[in-house]
Amino acid sequence: MPELLSVLEAQQKILSAVPKREPESCSVEAAYGRVLTQNIHSPLELPPFTNSSMDGFAVRSEETHNASAASPVRLPVKLDIPAGFSKTEPLLVGTAARILTGAPLPPGADAVVQLENTDQQGSSQTTSLPETVSIFVPVKKGENTRFAGEDVKSGQLVLKSGRILQPQDIGLLISLGVRQVSVWPIPPIALFSSGDELLTPDQPLTPGKIYDSNGFVLAGILKKAGAEVIQLGTARDNPQSVVEILDKALLYPPDLIISSAGVSVGVFDYVRQVIEENGSLSFWRVNMRPGKPIAFGYYKNIPFIGLPGNPVSAYIGSLLFALPVIRSLLGLPPFQQKLVKAILTEALESPDGRESFYRGNIKLVDGTYQASLTGHQGSGNLFSLVQANALLIVPAGVKVIPAGEEVSAWALEAGLD
Ligand code: AMP
Ligand code: MG
Repeated sequence: MPELLSVLEAQQKILSAVPKREPESCSVEAAYGRVLTQNIHSPLELPPFTNSSMDGFAVRSEETHNASAASPVRLPVKLDIPAGFSKTEPLLVGTAARILTGAPLPPGADAVVQLENTDQQGSSQTTSLPETVSIFVPVKKGENTRFAGEDVKSGQLVLKSGRILQPQDIGLLISLGVRQVSVWPIPPIALFSSGDELLTPDQPLTPGKIYDSNGFVLAGILKKAGAEVIQLGTARDNPQSVVEILDKALLYPPDLIISSAGVSVGVFDYVRQVIEENGSLSFWRVNMRPGKPIAFGYYKNIPFIGLPGNPVSAYIGSLLFALPVIRSLLGLPPFQQKLVKAILTEALESPDGRESFYRGNIKLVDGTYQASLTGHQGSGNLFSLVQANALLIVPAGVKVIPAGEEVSAWALEAGLD
């Protein structure tokens, strides 16, 4: 009889048994949300050239020192510099250049007088170049200019290995002209359901049959975690069908195969048997409720997690055992349950001392979380999960937590309130 593992032991066994792929190259445009496996040093400086931060007139600052509204400094305008302009002639002594935001400062200029502080407030690149400009306010050296390299120096470390790439990171990389980055690959995960009773959503519901909901719940969880989901379909309750489905996975091959149902002790639970005969089974039971029959092993040489068939068990099993693996494959920090302490409004029982996860609702009452159960707790009952915003945890070895006592609540992302 295989030993009954704790949730933590099972998680650790699975995590250490699923190998990571080598990093891959990804175009920067497609790299949002990916995890860097390299440090990025800037290949150039930003801004790449000194430019104006205002629409106005580029000047030699010392020539504006005596400017005032009562006695403006008047300079002939000899250059017109729009944004994107590449050949910047030098600014002659005693002259000004009309300049737009982002345009390169001409050699000789060291400041920009903003349009509003001149008599050319209406002047833009669509109007003809004025002959002169009268400046009402002096500017200091460097005023209204952005210096080359003031943001990023050439060679500077701008993004560290392990960074989860954010939209602004992508913007910076694009600004730097970086085209490819090295990231952890998106893990392909193959998924299948098993059972003679399962129907696809387009089939009519007939006596004795149910719709395959697990396939969709699990696909959603895996996709949200960042995996690429490969749908293998449904295996029927015979060994040939299970082998056929599993063999389909070999064509890809995925980093991990996940199934639901068929790993318990029933006469038609062939999934476990097929794994034992065509690979190896590491364990198939975990000391938890719901969802004790959790199997882990290899099909041929591909890691395999067999989740229970009951929808709530499959859901909780995927959060506990599949999510940590996917996060690790993606190079993300370990999965952290969001745990809050809550006061129970009713007792929670776990007579055989298994680690138990109850569907519940937590709400803040006068600054303290209160926890109550949602609906019927049968492990096949998905609606009570839909209504829950937390899983209330009874630790292993504890048989009851009475009403009024504190419970650890694992906050889920959704739930009716
Ligand atoms: P099993 O592990 O095959 O004994 O299945 C346990 C329970 O889960 C049974 O009531 C099945 O009908 C149900 N079940 C199995 N697979 C699915 C599925 N893909 N979607 C919904 N319920 C399922
Ligand atoms: Mg079954």
